[in-house]
Amino acid sequence: MGIEVLPDHVVAQIAAGEVVERPASVVKELIENAIDAGATTIHVSVNEGGQRLIRVSDDGDGIHSQEVELAFSRHATSKLRSHDDLQRIATLGFRGEALFSIASVSRVTVTTRHRDEQTGTRLRLEGSALAGKQAIGAPSGTIITVENLFYNVPARLKFLKKVTTERKQITALVTHLAMAYPHIRFILEHDGREVFRASGSGQLADVVVKAMGLDVFKSLIEVYSEHSGITVHGYTSQPSLVRSDRGRITLFVNGRAVQDSHLTYAITQAYQGFLETSQYPVAVLMVHVPPEEVDVNVHPTKAEVRFRDNNQVFTAVQRAVREALVEDANRRGTGGHFAPLDYPRTAGLYEPPWTRQMGMALDTESSPTAYERGALAQPHSNHEREDESIPYGPGAPLKPRTLPVLRVVGQVGASYIVAEGPAGLYLIDQHAAHQRVLYEQFLERGERPKPINDVVTVELSATRARLLETHLQEFMAVGFSVEPFGPHTFVVRAAPALLPTPDVAQIITELVDELAQKRPAKGDVEEFLIRQIVRRSAVKVGQILNHEEMQGLVRQLERSQNPLTSPEGRSTLLHMSGDQLAREFGR
Ligand code: ADP
Ligand code: MG
Repeated sequence: MGIEVLPDHVVAQIAAGEVVERPASVVKELIENAIDAGATTIHVSVNEGGQRLIRVSDDGDGIHSQEVELAFSRHATSKLRSHDDLQRIATLGFRGEALFSIASVSRVTVTTRHRDEQTGTRLRLEGSALAGKQAIGAPSGTIITVENLFYNVPARLKFLKKVTTERKQITALVTHLAMAYPHIRFILEHDGREVFRASGSGQLADVVVKAMGLDVFKSLIEVYSEHSGITVHGYTSQPSLVRSDRGRITLFVNGRAVQDSHLTYAITQAYQGFLETSQYPVAVLMVHVPPEEVDVNVHPTKAEVRFRDNNQVFTAVQRAVREALVEDANRRGTGGHFAPLDYPRTAGLYEPPWTRQMGMALDTESSPTAYERGALAQPHSNHEREDESIPYGPGAPLKPRTLPVLRVVGQVGASYIVAEGPAGLYLIDQHAAHQRVLYEQFLERGERPKPINDVVTVELSATRARLLETHLQEFMAVGFSVEPFGPHTFVVRAAPALLPTPDVAQIITELVDELAQKRPAKGDVEEFLIRQIVRRSAVKVGQILNHEEMQGLVRQLERSQNPLTSPEGRSTLLHMSGDQLAREFGR
């Protein structure tokens, strides 16, 4: 084959390959243009994962009628005039390559009206060739429709992923952009169905809730820090919310979603001591650095960035996340106060009567419940297998760890467990911690009524009796078996197995009293009762625990969903990092 200069349209298609990899890259370029044009609403509509049609409408500035064609020629941009400008890029586009590339591999229609002009323009291009231009009435703003992507590049077409894959990519992209620009209203439709909408309220929180769901959002901690010109803000997960890969760490640098393994590492590093090596947080973080400190011109699709001072940015991100995490842990951990340190003289010698009951509650239970048997059938995936002794039924998969492995050092004031972990010192409120553990067990395994040998009767005042009657169902739901038995009297045939004292009549009377005082809403009564039962069942302040009991309790707390607070919202632990200790001692 002799040497020939490639025809223009082939050159264009080769260039397009760099910018337009797949439908999501088209969507990205079009949205970025809309953002650059000052849009406040961006509507994205996609058919068949973008392979058939992508339409992006915006209410931005629009394009001047005499510049519409120009916008589609190579290196045509309104955003960059000189090489100097490259040093401080503030807009998303700047290469003047996107529209040109997109047009060379698809059929494009643009309808636009500049805000200063009376009439709009419609332009159609097929594989870069002009296929029509007309004046047209249009609202100010721009609508770009891209049809039959890669219709003239069979090689690319062949490598397009499944429609569902492309759809997911596009959804991820739009949600990311919506997070980066919370003041812009975004609407995304797939095949005519709306799948995502951001209100444009300006609040990142609103977008994160829409993108990740309220449940996830509730487990996120707000991050905000500003150090030497670098701001880091957004959300990062409490250690109780973990993922088995880095896929839920979303990073933005100066408003651009980036994939930066170095910064991702900075985030996971910040969780040292909070998470294990195979666990990753969920995070949405916006990093802002002065434009001259960052080079966004590394790659045409601009997913990578290069910082002038990599370490400075790394440190800023790591520190911001770490500070937020520690502060959050402290906020949950510093609520309690120390009881007077009157060590019981009998410590270590005396085995108190409740040990057996503790042992029951903290160690293995005889037969697995339905829940546990169900859990047995599940694969062991991504749960590590150490500490097989933890009581979740023999061989049951372990729940994910939410605290690091803690080593019990001892007990203080017969109330607090002192433990050591990789990240420093932990002081655990045994009563609050045990409540947390029992509460989650209760929710997981459901009630376990224990029949009472001698049938017990309870007599209440008329108002209390009425109250109990209206809540009989909730009492049953938590493991009591209570029935009306004559005026103001009830028989009790069973009580939750968890409850320690045999005086069931007394407990029911107390529970009804509590209900009368606190008056929880009808829908909250069951939960309220569970909390009361758990509070009565948990080890008390002032109870001496032996080493095994403490270690047993700590092991279970390490895998609680919310290890840092009791069901009533009080702190279960106080953490002092190695750094804090060193600082306190002036090291
Ligand atoms: P770049 O964004 O790098 O400048 P593009 O090829 O993406 O290059 O766009 C070329 C030019 O077309 C832009 O500089 C801008 O002037 C104009 N343009 C593109 N899309 C829009 C839009 N949605 N609204 C207003 N102007 C637009
Ligand atoms: Mg652009």
